[in-house]
Amino acid sequence: MRRRMAAGNWKMNGLRADLAEIAAIAALRPDCEMVLCPPATLIAPAAAALGAGGAALALGGQDCAARASGAHTGDISAEMLADAGASHVILGHSERRADHGEGDKLVAAKVAAAWEAGLVAIVCIGETEAERAAGRTLSVLAGQLARSIPDHARAGHLGVAYEPVWAIGSGRTPSPQEVQDVHAALRQGIETRFGADVAAAVRLLYGGSVKPENAAGLMSLPDVDGALVGGASLRAESFAAIVAAIDAA
Ligand code: PEP
Repeated sequence: MRRRMAAGNWKMNGLRADLAEIAAIAALRPDCEMVLCPPATLIAPAAAALGAGGAALALGGQDCAARASGAHTGDISAEMLADAGASHVILGHSERRADHGEGDKLVAAKVAAAWEAGLVAIVCIGETEAERAAGRTLSVLAGQLARSIPDHARAGHLGVAYEPVWAIGSGRTPSPQEVQDVHAALRQGIETRFGADVAAAVRLLYGGSVKPENAAGLMSLPDVDGALVGGASLRAESFAAIVAAIDAA
């Protein structure tokens, strides 16, 4: 009932020379929904290059402003992302939270702005290594989830990515059982707040060092509906292997 999702996050990587890599990803024809979030500078050229044939690959931003327009130098609004060809946006990534001091309240305002512009928001939450060591993983995530998502959530315009901060770019991941336990708890939290229909339909992605080698084990878990992939999404070959693992799950 939930269509799985493979989302790639290129972070601050990618120039126009890399449009060929995006085209190679778009040429995949998976069963799952594929979303690539390149730097904002590449969204419009990628959308133009993909044209109608790009239907298999949706494009997303990596952040958007909470406000719709105005005197906010350097910010990019959700409407601008949509205008450039994006249908999705990653919000609350731990690198935004750490590098730019973004808190849950701001993330929730950005999610509301994304929804207003018709974008699907992929909201990232995750515990730090210290929080994990203190046994606080589930309580930290419950708080982030509650505060980062506005009240009027619908499953169709929301994805949640569980991304342990310590797993991002480190080559380390929680065990599959730990990921399943977290995702089951997140789905329960969503059900309590938004109801059973939303909980059953919302996609819960796992992110943090997903690679071709570990994708099958992580993607076959009952409450994992796909992956948010950083480093391994930069090359079509490795992203394709993860996409194949998602489809096979
Ligand atoms: C990310 O930052 O969203 C991410 C999942 O990165 P990586 O796959 O490189 O750990």
